[in-house]
Amino acid sequence: MCFGEYILYKSGENYSINSCDTIEMFYNIRTDLDKIKYAVHITKIIQDATNENENSYKILQLYLNTLYMISETDKDADFILSVFKLKLLCFLGFKPRVNECTNCGQKEILNHFSIKDNGLKCEECYRQDKSSIEISSSTWAALKFIVSAPVRKVFGFNLKDESLRELKLLSKVYFNEKLEKEYKLEELW
Ligand SMILES: [Zn+2]
Repeated sequence: MCFGEYILYKSGENYSINSCDTIEMFYNIRTDLDKIKYAVHITKIIQDATNENENSYKILQLYLNTLYMISETDKDADFILSVFKLKLLCFLGFKPRVNECTNCGQKEILNHFSIKDNGLKCEECYRQDKSSIEISSSTWAALKFIVSAPVRKVFGFNLKDESLRELKLLSKVYFNEKLEKEYKLEELW
């Protein structure tokens, strides 16, 4: 897992590498089995979410920032994974509505997240929605931050126990549902 700049030479249908320069090695990932596990998982997701010859600059920026967080910080790896998934969904066209109820537009008390309707629901509207997950006000604040923050700042907050559990659950269920695949962290050894 190394970020570099490559100079390619095209002949016919094929490319050859003329030269390459290393930009970032993410060195600590290779010395920690747990960090490798998360980095491999995130790389698999990126391979699914991007296509060859398509401009994916924002996704690349998110990917590099996520690898940097795994490599260089002691933040909880599940926290990093959850934030990564939610921000990636924003870039893939599933940005959740987090400022008003997706059903009635109410903005005051939003304490449920609807997987089906891609965003928050109020005390009244969630009752008719079996796909909704209850969230605390801290998780709501975290969601608003993730949706609006630029990629380089998106990991810049902390969540405590219960809210962290909520964010992990929500990001996992929402991500699998929208990408129509059951993503699981796999043991590598
Ligand atoms: Zn409502």
